[in-house]
Amino acid sequence: MKLKILGSNSKGNGYILEGKSQTLLLECGLPLKDVKEALDFNLSRVVGGIVSHLHGDHSKYANDYLKNGITLLMNVETSVHLSKADDRRGGFTHIIEAGRQVTIGEFKIMPFSVKHDVPCLGFLINHPESGNILFVTDTHYIPNRFKGLNQILIEANYEERILNENLIDGKIDNIRYQRVIRSHMSLETTIEALKANDIKEVQNIVLIHLSPQNSDAKLFKNKVVEATGKNVHIALKGLTIDFNKNPY
Ligand SMILES: [Zn+2]
Ligand SMILES: [Zn+2]
Repeated sequence: MKLKILGSNSKGNGYILEGKSQTLLLECGLPLKDVKEALDFNLSRVVGGIVSHLHGDHSKYANDYLKNGITLLMNVETSVHLSKADDRRGGFTHIIEAGRQVTIGEFKIMPFSVKHDVPCLGFLINHPESGNILFVTDTHYIPNRFKGLNQILIEANYEERILNENLIDGKIDNIRYQRVIRSHMSLETTIEALKANDIKEVQNIVLIHLSPQNSDAKLFKNKVVEATGKNVHIALKGLTIDFNKNPY
């Protein structure tokens, strides 16, 4: 299993879980062209995609993915939102909800609710090659605890100190400040969440959805390495990470 990162910020989110024989897409915030390029123009192994919520940086191109025959799993709010868009829907939308596991090909997916400013889902994804993958974005904290995790993709949007400095310096206004703290995860909360979970078997922690303004990639990576002692990556466009479960 490989994780391929197409993009990971408010301009557009897209990730690919590329297994030996089956591939799952995470989010539709980047053009399908980007997916095609990352998969050498062969979409035949794509079993579907999941969309966390309706915001454009996660769902903007979903109708295009559907029109190209990709089955997408999403909550009802996202589906309603997409059906209002100008684009006509052609593909198959599968409505999912928190607490109900779905299986798509070799991927078992358990959605759970997170704390954003619109209904948003986090996911626990199991695949035999990668083990248990936690994928959580656009939330100000994680209400659940997980066992037996092998790989983690987790939002680390801002650092409290940087955000506060940007407010004082007038780089962001109060409305923006309030929205960020109520809908996105701080590095401090990310670290707390990692410490609150069983991460003994975790091989990779991928920090996602960093704010270009309110974060510092190098500092974030160092702090999470310090707190967890794990392999930590910053989700940069074009990066590929080995997501195979250690056999031992
Ligand atoms: Zn987002
Ligand atoms: Zn969002």
